[in-house]
Amino acid sequence: MVKNSLKRENPDQERKIAVLLEDLSLLEDYVHDLFTFYPLPVCFVSLSGIILELNPAFEEISNFSSQEIIGEKISKIFGKKEGNEIIRKTVLEGPILGEEKTLFPNQKPPLIVQIFTKPREDEEGRVIGFFLGLFDVTKIKITEETLKKTQNKLLQFLEDLEIARKRAEEEKEKTFDIINNFADGILVFDEEKRLTLLNPKVEEFFRCRGQGLIGKTIWELSSSPYFSSLVDLLGREIREVSREELSFGENLVLEVISVALKSGNKKTGNLIILHDVTREKTVEKLKTEFVSLSAHQLRTPLSAIKWTLKMLLEGDLGEITPEQREYLEKIYQSNERMINLINDLLNVTRIEEGRYIFTLSPTDLEKIVENFLVFYKDEIKKKNLSVDFSKEKIPVLNLDQEKISLAIQNLLENAIKYTLPGGKIKIFLGQKEGNVFFSVQDSGIGIPESQKERIFTKFFRGANAIRIETEGSGLGLFITKNIIEAHGGKIWFESKEGKGSTFYFTLPIKP
Ligand code: ADP
Repeated sequence: MVKNSLKRENPDQERKIAVLLEDLSLLEDYVHDLFTFYPLPVCFVSLSGIILELNPAFEEISNFSSQEIIGEKISKIFGKKEGNEIIRKTVLEGPILGEEKTLFPNQKPPLIVQIFTKPREDEEGRVIGFFLGLFDVTKIKITEETLKKTQNKLLQFLEDLEIARKRAEEEKEKTFDIINNFADGILVFDEEKRLTLLNPKVEEFFRCRGQGLIGKTIWELSSSPYFSSLVDLLGREIREVSREELSFGENLVLEVISVALKSGNKKTGNLIILHDVTREKTVEKLKTEFVSLSAHQLRTPLSAIKWTLKMLLEGDLGEITPEQREYLEKIYQSNERMINLINDLLNVTRIEEGRYIFTLSPTDLEKIVENFLVFYKDEIKKKNLSVDFSKEKIPVLNLDQEKISLAIQNLLENAIKYTLPGGKIKIFLGQKEGNVFFSVQDSGIGIPESQKERIFTKFFRGANAIRIETEGSGLGLFITKNIIEAHGGKIWFESKEGKGSTFYFTLPIKP
């Protein structure tokens, strides 16, 4: 309240003073209300830095009640150094406008505030203290910090993206370099069978310019004889990888490898790799021709030797002593083995040259098996093998009798050869699911697991087989497989090393 010390002069004046005092009191209330209501923290500080007055917002931000903080120095909430600095600056340099300071509220984490000061002077212009206003910018600061971090992260991300883009570009260029300089031809077709990529090697193989061909479908390209060979390949449903050899005219044989391209589970197209095998094929052909020629040349003298030995052994050329007979028989056996080998080689060359001609005639398979069992009777006896042949009634099939005999002979001979003395052989001939079914099971040496996949390849002989039977060309099963498959049949085996093997084949019974 404003104290009144004025002397009463006259009633009129007195009334005026009363009105003025009334106004002053109202103004004082108004200022007090405004100060209390004002949402920003404000206080009044003496020259020595003691807080003299404050509003509720200041109480709230400092977490001190007015009783606790009035009379305390501002260092209590700003720290000694900063508190003194605020006083010094305000008094000597004038108002502070929005400087950032750390405020230490009572028992609460520090806040970042902007401070505003305004010196207050008395009538003579002497500074008697100052107003101190605060503006809490902690949240703004945190937001600013987060924003800065986000911005940095974004910049980092953009930088990484740029690096990744550059790297991808480099990788792409590298891939293109590899594709362009690849020794094999590469073609890529999309899902619609449109050509999307081809490398210079394809241009060389197919004598074409790639530029005009990209984007065309395989059917549009098929007017070129080179591409037409691929139509069939691309038309087929290729699951993973398919391989086949295709001849492109006289002087070009390519191994065509087709790979289904996938993205996840979705098929995205086909990659076709063309590998030039012309040289290998030519060498192979020359080799086959050479073997064929040599075998033919050898067969005639070996036959002559055979017949001469036969005559000698039968006594047509005079009596021979038992000792001479023993030697001649050994020579005869060796000669027989040589003839067999030559025959095997000739069969292989015929298969490879595609000249393994088949002449079909009604064939009694049961009879063939029985004849061979008679043929090998001495060997079976010598090794004391027990042989069981069980058969069901089967129809007469139209087969190449000579070749099927050879296949059956190979399988029976192997069972006898690779079974140790005293072992068992079980032969079955019957019908299964529209096929004639043949199996020969032995209790022999078996086939080592690691060698199973090579069993039907040319010249392959198992290490365990070589140990017990030094004679053998490794051609029998290759020829047998070709014979069975040429008749539309299937051949396979099951085996366990040291326990025995079973070879199976089926031949279709056609109406
Ligand atoms: P060869 O009998 O002249 O060696 P084959 O082509 O008939 O040639 O057989 C190839 C190889 O397969 C044999 O050397 C042998 O390792 C293995 N094999 C074939 N049949 C049998 C069998 N019944 N038991 C064990 N191994 C066998």
